Amino acid sequence: MTFEEIKALDEQYVMHTYSRFPVAADHGKNATVWDTEGRAYIDFTSGIGVCSLGYADEGWVQAVTDQAGKLAHISNLYYAAPYALTAQKLCTRTGMANVMFANSGAESNEAMIKLARKYSFDKYGKGRGTIITLNKSFHGRTITTLAATGQEVFHNYFFPFTEGFRYANANDMDSVEEVAGHDVCAVMVELVQGEGGVLPLEQDFVTRLADLCAKRDWLLLVDEVQTGAGRTGSLFAFQQYGITPDAVSFAKGVAGGLPFGGVMAGEKCRDVFTPGTHGTTFGGNPVAAAAANYVLERLDDELLSQVREKGQYLRERIEAMDLPCLGKTRGLGMMIGVEVKAGFNNKELAAKLTEHGLLVLTAGQGLRLLPPLVITKEEMDKGLEILEKTLA
Ligand SMILES: *Cc1c(COP(=O)(O)O)cnc(C)c1O
Repeated sequence: MTFEEIKALDEQYVMHTYSRFPVAADHGKNATVWDTEGRAYIDFTSGIGVCSLGYADEGWVQAVTDQAGKLAHISNLYYAAPYALTAQKLCTRTGMANVMFANSGAESNEAMIKLARKYSFDKYGKGRGTIITLNKSFHGRTITTLAATGQEVFHNYFFPFTEGFRYANANDMDSVEEVAGHDVCAVMVELVQGEGGVLPLEQDFVTRLADLCAKRDWLLLVDEVQTGAGRTGSLFAFQQYGITPDAVSFAKGVAGGLPFGGVMAGEKCRDVFTPGTHGTTFGGNPVAAAAANYVLERLDDELLSQVREKGQYLRERIEAMDLPCLGKTRGLGMMIGVEVKAGFNNKELAAKLTEHGLLVLTAGQGLRLLPPLVITKEEMDKGLEILEKTLA
């Protein structure tokens, strides 16, 4: 099918929840994507942080097709090896106690919110269900995760929203204390705010927040939907911050391209969910879990150290270009934000770059780069060359 044919079907039959770039993706290899017209693009997006091993990775394809040929799905009423092995890998590499699987980031955060409220209910009874989140956060698109998201633009249209969220400023303990109260059961944060603009939390704030949580028996919930699965240069970002969360949600890059997510619980929360208190038909699906197993195997120390090096290389090269429209870079590992200077529009810049063969994301007022973790030096250099030529 041609781009025009696909676009016509999309316009007529698909709800317009996204304004798309004028590209119809057809296939990819590593960090390069080809459209239906045969044009190549260097991908600095990974499908919004999903395709951590890039496109058509041979081992990944093998793991997925092997499992699809054996058992594509069986309900959670039965045991199956793929989810059990994935849970083992996640726990042994993070020190968390156990896992509940889900299918998306929002759903994983919903599970984490339910876990926190039930932990508190079991111990203290009703009236202690409030969760503090941060301004500029993003936690998902369900009614509850929209309510958890600390951005007013998301609190529209869909009233009534779920109660029980209060918002504090990032890197500001006074602001956290201001919204504290006897009704609080947890604090939920992204360690690097993704959609909000790639804003890493300061170490000192995170350390003090973790201390306060421990003191008040508030659960420390870390949304690692975007920062997880090696994106920041450690398997999970919390491992770089030296904290021990009570629960960690994940999704996006964990299965390298298939819908998969979940929440890991620490020792204190391992038995909060009991049969019947939470569930999902697809959670832990064998094919998605086999993909996650393979991704986790590949995310060894060597690949993680390459993530840190590549992230640094990209940031140094971009800052050295000294482009009129771009400012400083920020981020952690290969989760990179680039400041867009006043007078320039990030969405217009992204559209221009796409036109010239480089896929990038926006976040807040800036550009956001989430390249596949396996991107080669050649692909990075080609992408950087397009960036420099187009934006100069
Ligand atoms: C993308 C994202 C979500 C939502 O994930 P979905 O899979 O789109 O539901 C939640 N939290 C963070 C930090 C995210 O980046």
